[in-house]
Amino acid sequence: MPEPAERAMWTFVERAFGICRSITGDGVRQTLSLLAERLPLEVHEVPTGTTVLDWTVPREWSIRDAWVKDPSGTVVIDFADHNLHLVGYSSPIHRKLDLADLKPHLHSLPDRPEWIPYRTSYYTETWGFCLPHRQLESLPDGEYEVFIDSSLEDGALSYGELLLPGDLEDEVLFSCHICHPSMANDNLSGVAVCLTLTEHLARSDRRRLSYRFLFVPGTIGAITWLARNEETTRRVRHGLVAANLGDGDFHYKRSRHGDAAIDRAVIGVLAATGRAHTTEDFMPFGYDERQYSSPGFDLAIGSLTRTPWGRYPEYHTSADNLDFISAGALQESLDLYLEVVEALEHGGTETDPKPQQQPAPRGATYLNLSPKGEPQLGRRGLYRSLGGGDGGRQAELALLWVLNLSDGRHGLIDIAERSSLPLDLLENAARELLEVDLLEKRSPCSPVRISGREGSS
Ligand code: ZN
Repeated sequence: MPEPAERAMWTFVERAFGICRSITGDGVRQTLSLLAERLPLEVHEVPTGTTVLDWTVPREWSIRDAWVKDPSGTVVIDFADHNLHLVGYSSPIHRKLDLADLKPHLHSLPDRPEWIPYRTSYYTETWGFCLPHRQLESLPDGEYEVFIDSSLEDGALSYGELLLPGDLEDEVLFSCHICHPSMANDNLSGVAVCLTLTEHLARSDRRRLSYRFLFVPGTIGAITWLARNEETTRRVRHGLVAANLGDGDFHYKRSRHGDAAIDRAVIGVLAATGRAHTTEDFMPFGYDERQYSSPGFDLAIGSLTRTPWGRYPEYHTSADNLDFISAGALQESLDLYLEVVEALEHGGTETDPKPQQQPAPRGATYLNLSPKGEPQLGRRGLYRSLGGGDGGRQAELALLWVLNLSDGRHGLIDIAERSSLPLDLLENAARELLEVDLLEKRSPCSPVRISGREGSS
């Protein structure tokens, strides 16, 4: 007989699975209402157009219906069958067009011909459909009819928040994203574990630390929370970003600090399980730890997952479904999170005093002029390399590394060492960031500080 927590997590995942979530809109609200059935969740609605750090809350996306009819008039792709069939944030359209003109709007996975990929286009207005490659290949020539009944209108960005106060104001932040449509491991597993962890901690009669839970749309939701809660971030001592908690072995991505109390707690708990697991150093890519760990906030937040994002073939496809995860894995993940909480509760308030003295930055040194959250690179034309294969990906990473570590304490040689990226790529990234005024060159005779541990992780 499964434990009640295990059953409750599974019930939540089953109920939430079919909801078409995105970064805004009713799918997010429905998901927050499911959570609010079990938690005294505070739901925030932040209006479209609100400036949040370097970003703006986007228009709200609503989707009612979407399909493609083949030349015989048969519906061959139907949003009603699977919400992954539609590119998230697709703009409305009703048009007839030839297969050749339709094809650039169709996305499939040639390597996984039976699966539907997950695609979105939040910040570039376009439309598209996703389908199994086998089906794409079988579409006959001729005239197709495309219909998307969506709207992009002023509305709000919704997110959920809950604070469980403890004896101390020092906070532990747990954050998960709630913006993916029907996918189980990458999304609902993290939400289910956070939901149940919240319930457990709410029942506990004594909490030394305070616990804050965020259920936010990825990237823009975390940025919105950070923009509205700068004061609160000063109380955050430890934190974890929860995702991918329903499949294989555990994995821990360290905080930007590298050896913060949260890093020591998680790694200790993982070691004590005696089970296979992996750890890796922080990198400014991945889930919302990249926002919380931007140099202007620099929170000690790691990410405790099972198989990390992008490292399992089912990731961001229709194969990341209820068969891919298990209730038992969710329960193990919850147990592990509870053990981490226990370790933090017994760990004193030690955080990780930032070293007073640092080694002098090595190599050309810059200062990130937009250090709170990631600056929006897309509108500055700096994500042009996206999708350009490995080279494009490396260039994008170089931009993020230079932004993340240009805190005055790291030069490009330090960044090269820590990121394992070639120096010329980082120099190039710095040049591009200088051109759009996101960086400022530091004078080479800035005061030299000595000793310290930063950069050694
Ligand atoms: Zn994802």
